[in-house]
Amino acid sequence: MIPFDYERATDAETAVAAVTGNRRAAYLAGGTNLVDHMKLGIAAPEVLVDITALPLGDVEELPDGGLRLGAGALNSEVAAHPLVRRRYPVLSQALLTGASGQLRNLATVGGNLLQRTRCVYFQDVTTPCNKRSPGEGCSALDGYTRYHAVLGASPHCVAVHPSDMAVALAALDAVVRVRTADGERAIPVAELHRLPGEHPERDTVLEHGELITAVDLPPLRSARRSRYAKARDRASFAFALVSVAAVLDISGGVVRDVRVAFGGLAHKPWRATAAERALRGARATSEAFHAAAEAELADARPLRDNAFKITLARSMFVSVLRELAREESP
Ligand SMILES: Cc1cc2nc3c(=O)[nH]c(=O)nc-3n(C[C@H](O)[C@H](O)[C@H](O)COP(=O)(O)OP(=O)(O)OC[C@H]3O[C@@H](n4cnc5c(N)ncnc54)[C@H](O)[C@@H]3O)c2cc1C
Ligand code: SF4
Repeated sequence: MIPFDYERATDAETAVAAVTGNRRAAYLAGGTNLVDHMKLGIAAPEVLVDITALPLGDVEELPDGGLRLGAGALNSEVAAHPLVRRRYPVLSQALLTGASGQLRNLATVGGNLLQRTRCVYFQDVTTPCNKRSPGEGCSALDGYTRYHAVLGASPHCVAVHPSDMAVALAALDAVVRVRTADGERAIPVAELHRLPGEHPERDTVLEHGELITAVDLPPLRSARRSRYAKARDRASFAFALVSVAAVLDISGGVVRDVRVAFGGLAHKPWRATAAERALRGARATSEAFHAAAEAELADARPLRDNAFKITLARSMFVSVLRELAREESP
């Protein structure tokens, strides 16, 4: 590992100033992703600004009935929080499918959102990768692509986003609160991560130095009936091949509202807007769920090793929605 300076921030303003003022500075939260990258030679920050002492660790109720997750709240704390489990089970379930108990005890909300792709070529500095070094080329295009994207990819990068939590947050219409050098801004989670386009080195719309302070969950009664399903190569401690986060609201057998996001398919959590459009106002039948999945996945383009993801995503979508529909029946 290359030597670096370490600072422990005690207030958000100083932390933001320290990172914004130095292109080679980075925030350190749980360190479970960043420190691995420093050991692998993928990241070499000159200064680490530790943000774990900032008062960002709480989960609190909002006046509108929503919930605010502090950016420093641990993944294990959020997953176990009674209000999260009762009001947003999809989020608790997503977190519990991620990593291991030990990692969840260190990983934070902000760090989980900003973890980088697990593309094996990105993690191997001996291979070309446009995300690590723009202009080098993409080793995955002619390589092993079982884990890679089928939606929204570009010739510059076919990597997928790895966070389970982010998929649930995208389905819930959560909003990321960000502190900048000049003030604050709010970004819907579904708009935080980018598709690769010509600049796969940019994972998100955040500017260097912007600090995530919290994630707000809107009041959403229907989210009490929600699910996260994850298909992976091992029963635990593995990233998603495909995952589905869904919230379904039915009245009299008709879909009043539906929110679905996929993980493992794209460079960002993939909000299934075409499927949602097809289902709103429709009868909640298996046929309608199948047709909605078809509509969403019509533009999916497999790589050499991952055509199975399209079939898997379709059947997971249908089975999760059928399960929720059964639960909502009187
Ligand atoms: C073996 C293993 C298996 C895993 N399996 C899964 C899995 O199945 N599913 C899953 O979702 N994840 C999985 N993970 C990833 C794990 O969830 C992430 O490593 C973790 O969530 C990152 O959080 P952290 O607080 O440790 O972030 P850090 O490593 O501290 O930071 C990650 C990045 O975020 C930046 N950052 C952190 N906090 C902020 C903030 N508040 N504002 C701005 N920037 C910030 C840092 O500068 C850094 O760039 C796995 C990790 C490992 C090592
Ligand atoms: S898919 Fe993206 S992250 Fe993986 S090698 Fe290609 S450019 Fe790099």
